[in-house]
Amino acid sequence: MERTPLLPLPEGMLIDEIQITENGLVIAVIATHPTSCCPLCSDLSSSIQSHYRRVLRDVPCAGRQVQLFLTVRKFYCRNPLCPRKIFTERLPSFVEPWARMTIRYCQQITSIGLATCGKGGVRLATRLGIQTTRQTILRRVMDLPDALPASIVYLGVDDFSFRRGCRFGTVLVNLESRRVVDLLSDREAETSAAWMRQHPDLMAVSRDRGGEYASAAREGAPQAIQCADRFHLLKNLREALEGLLARHLSTQCKRQTQVILEEEVPTWQSERAVRISPNLERLQQSRREERLARYAQVIALRKLDLSQAAIARQVGIGASTVQSWLAAGTFPERKPREQASHVDRYLPYLFKRWEDGCHNIACLFRELVEQGYQGSYESVRDNLVRLLPTGRKNPAHSSLKAPALATSRQASFLFLRRPEKLRVEEQDTLAKLRQLHPEVDLAYDLVQQFAQMLRTRTGEHLDAWLTQAASSKLPELQSFAVGVERDKDAVRNGLT
Ligand SMILES: [Zn+2]
Repeated sequence: MERTPLLPLPEGMLIDEIQITENGLVIAVIATHPTSCCPLCSDLSSSIQSHYRRVLRDVPCAGRQVQLFLTVRKFYCRNPLCPRKIFTERLPSFVEPWARMTIRYCQQITSIGLATCGKGGVRLATRLGIQTTRQTILRRVMDLPDALPASIVYLGVDDFSFRRGCRFGTVLVNLESRRVVDLLSDREAETSAAWMRQHPDLMAVSRDRGGEYASAAREGAPQAIQCADRFHLLKNLREALEGLLARHLSTQCKRQTQVILEEEVPTWQSERAVRISPNLERLQQSRREERLARYAQVIALRKLDLSQAAIARQVGIGASTVQSWLAAGTFPERKPREQASHVDRYLPYLFKRWEDGCHNIACLFRELVEQGYQGSYESVRDNLVRLLPTGRKNPAHSSLKAPALATSRQASFLFLRRPEKLRVEEQDTLAKLRQLHPEVDLAYDLVQQFAQMLRTRTGEHLDAWLTQAASSKLPELQSFAVGVERDKDAVRNGLT
């Protein structure tokens, strides 16, 4: 009989025998303490009535499953006043009465459950030598006592989706403990307001920029100050910036395509008014424009017999995208089309004219306008570019030598990063992007100033920044500034 530091046991328990089996270790343990306490009257007794064996799972030993054959005893209670005559020996810190696993084994399963989930937990546990089921793991987690409902002073509120993009709920976070304190079944202002009313200690509510949670906080926690959370502020700013960059990058792409095609653009078409639409729609539109411009560039380069890899480098997109675009034959829309391009109706006519031998895009465009076409020259051009004959001579244009800069999305992240943390090639890209247009350069200065306010929590500069943005003539940043202006107190709190 021995005790070993490798398998700690409560006092009075000794290892009798260790067997190695196919499934792991079977360890026979016997209880040797001369006395035990009656669970009813707490009197000590040394009168053993009988022995019996319990089979328990225990924590694995070096990855091997461990089964304990535990021999314990029944004692007589000698207290004449105690109604219990016979009791079984208890091992309170080691195993619950009737349980089939040790307490430490339970605790390990709970920890696995908290760190993973039911299914993932089973996979991990098996690797660790713990045999369990999904249901056991979930039961262990659900058996944990609820944390005491402490008062919440700083609350974070945001939405989450039950099914992506379909149904939304609200998640409430205690910002001090960084723990989720509750989930609500929807994201209506009234539901959140009702929750906040039950928590009168709230002093600050951090929320996104949407109006629902703002009005929830106004209704439910008027005593609390509201902060626009910095994540959403930065997200909104980045999206505004992405729209602006997409606008300029697509212009740049179109210019390059024109160089490749050696064509003349009707001048009265090159200046088109920026369409004013809600932010998101405008961003989507700009993104689509940019993608379409890249598509046209891909097709044009293909006509020059460039390899797919070379096209990918040149246009700044992945080789697999180039491949799928070339295979698609037409511009692959990203979503089901909400608004079909104006030109679609005229495509049969266009293609027929092309077949008949008219290859002058500007001329075809004029014909379409005469028929009532209201779309852009670029749409016509982008649709015709793939009909061009292949193998045209490779013009030695400088635009073919410099690869593309970045997509608007990549560029927008680049613009927001700390300049001192950029790698050399990123600094190079940034410098080139800023040279695209004075607007881009100005936008860079503005977003950097805003990001700086955010990092250093210097909300006192907000008013000055808003004035600059409003007078910048950059529509994307102006509309971001208008949004901030509407929610200025919360934004300033978020920046301070
Ligand atoms: Zn007793």
